This record gives sequence, structure tokens and C-alpha cells, in this order.
Amino acid sequence: MSEPFKGRCGKCEHVFIVAHLPMPLTLAADLMKRAACPSCGSKRPIYVATDAKEPTNV
Ligand SMILES: [Zn+2]
Repeated sequence: MSEPFKGRCGKCEHVFIVAHLPMPLTLAADLMKRAACPSCGSKRPIYVATDAKEPTNV
């Protein structure tokens, strides 16, 4: 069973899956650092998105 590890774009706040857990946290952190937002292409820091921060489709 894997669980999606979601990141939130620091620019447009788009939430996307960065990796699938379980995965070593160091590797997950490295993936997040290298991740580019699939929505706006920004390479600004990607933050960890928790389920509580799930975007609402308005
Ligand atoms: Zn973005």
C-alpha cells in the first residue's frame, strides 16, 4: 500500500503528488526540492500539503 505524498506549489498553491510513500524522508525531501509545479512550472519551494490543506474546487 502506498500513500501519495503531496506538495503544494509556493507560487500558485497548486497541489500535486510529489512521491508515493513509504519512501525515505531524505529522498522525498530531495524530490520536493527538485520538483517543478505541473500547473505553473514554477520551481519555487514546494511545501508539504496535508489533507487538511486540500484545495477546494471552486
Ligand atoms: Zn504552481
